[in-house]
Amino acid sequence: MSDGQQVWMDNGSSRRRFLATCGLAAGAAFLTPKPSNAEAPLTDNSFGFNRYSDLLDAIRKRGHEWRTLGHCPDGSPVVAVKAGGEKLPAILISAGAHSTEHAGVVAAVELIDELRTDHAVYVIPCRDPMGLQGFRHVLSFGLGEELAIAGIDEVEPLLRSKGEVLYDADGRLLVLIGDYGYANTSFNRREYDGAAFLEPLKGRRMWFPSSRTDQPGAAPLQRAYTQIVTPKGEVLHLNRFHDTPWAPVEVRCILKLMAEVKPRLVFDLHEYGGDDFWMSARRQQTDDDELWELRMAREAVEAVKGIGATFPDAGYSPGSFFKELEPGAYWLDPSQRGEGLNLVDFAARHYGPGFTIETGMRQDFAKRLTMHRTVVQTAVQLFEERFRAA
Ligand SMILES: [Zn+2]
Repeated sequence: MSDGQQVWMDNGSSRRRFLATCGLAAGAAFLTPKPSNAEAPLTDNSFGFNRYSDLLDAIRKRGHEWRTLGHCPDGSPVVAVKAGGEKLPAILISAGAHSTEHAGVVAAVELIDELRTDHAVYVIPCRDPMGLQGFRHVLSFGLGEELAIAGIDEVEPLLRSKGEVLYDADGRLLVLIGDYGYANTSFNRREYDGAAFLEPLKGRRMWFPSSRTDQPGAAPLQRAYTQIVTPKGEVLHLNRFHDTPWAPVEVRCILKLMAEVKPRLVFDLHEYGGDDFWMSARRQQTDDDELWELRMAREAVEAVKGIGATFPDAGYSPGSFFKELEPGAYWLDPSQRGEGLNLVDFAARHYGPGFTIETGMRQDFAKRLTMHRTVVQTAVQLFEERFRAA
């Protein structure tokens, strides 16, 4: 049994661990991957993992061991699995920074076995373990008692009765329970930056429940969406804080791994609310990196088109800080966006090429998985070509 598994087993036997263990774990070495058992079914339904423990079980059943990079406030380990071979430079695959974007998480786990490359591959399949565990879990964690919540309609009365109300207007409710915030919806709005009602949550986190009835993996209460209140009182999320001295533990875990393995290709698997596919690329620090960034983006888009992906209409932009690279792919300029650097922005600044992949959550779940895997496999083939002579 690996060190990582032992940590999880300990957590499992005492389901709630109230001692916050936010520090990063001492750096245990990666163990050599065992022969995989890829035919073992990943999940017991077609919609992915119900709980984070199901994800860890799937990894274990396939014969892999993980390294624990750190622990969430509830004690859940943030894990990385080593796949691929030993050749450098390394590749990094990350998913699940936003808990409702579940196809990326399942695709990342599948890629551990599926990706054939000589290069070392590090996979962090879920960057928000508590969010994946769901809203019942995070609320029970804050209250210190196991709660049975039958449906999402019960959330608001429950929050009002159990918490201190910080904000309750315009259909938005936010309460404080212990050191954590619980809301009925997102508070990521510029108008709330530095607002007095956020004062008790500065440097802390808050959650609201998933509520999609049409999107597998994001059903009502199935996930808890994690929002982080910065020390200055801005409400952000776990795909920020890559360039700030203050960062939540989940982000520090991935920064620590990147500093160690210096990935020259990074993927961050996300989803968005629509029914098309798109991905974002970043301007690079060297001409050579930028050429490969461009080439990988173009070939990946071509490959997903080949399996039936549709792209947003020409002229569409996911935001003012995007510029079309070609249909299906955009340059993302974080200096225009604000909120600091996300994972791929940070990788472009320090390590090299990378992509954020966005599959449309209104599409068939299996199709979303295939699109994520296709982008990664296509770009990795080019990465191998790039470093073949090296
Ligand atoms: Zn996302």
